[in-house]
Amino acid sequence: MLNMSQAKKYLQRGGFILVAAGFMYTSNLGLLSYVAHWNSPKLYWKGKLEDTVRAEAELLGFHEEITIKIEDNGKTPGLSYKQGGKYFVQLSPDRADLAELRHELYHIANGHLDSNSINSFWQEPKATFYAFIMSFKDRE
Ligand SMILES: [Zn+2]
Repeated sequence: MLNMSQAKKYLQRGGFILVAAGFMYTSNLGLLSYVAHWNSPKLYWKGKLEDTVRAEAELLGFHEEITIKIEDNGKTPGLSYKQGGKYFVQLSPDRADLAELRHELYHIANGHLDSNSINSFWQEPKATFYAFIMSFKDRE
């Protein structure tokens, strides 16, 4: 059973390894993202979804309110943003899954949305790596 402190340890170690190796992020991220989304549960019902969002945010130690919008943005299965001091996650009704939600929640919980834009070199890989690590939790 993978607990949160182990997951965080793996995440820190994984982040360090990624930087130290100076990998080509895009290709490796594609692979991590593919594995994270493989078999990841689709997100359907709004009631259940709100419980899931709360539970997953708690795992990240994030307790502020997050508003969920079910709406396709035409590009990605999900995105997150901050507007008027409030946090939003927008998920595609057909394409969003648990891995996508976790990726977006990681951005929110780690303050990535508080800077002007998400740093694709550092913040994006960490969110992707988090969803990747957490996907193993579901398969245990
Ligand atoms: Zn992202």
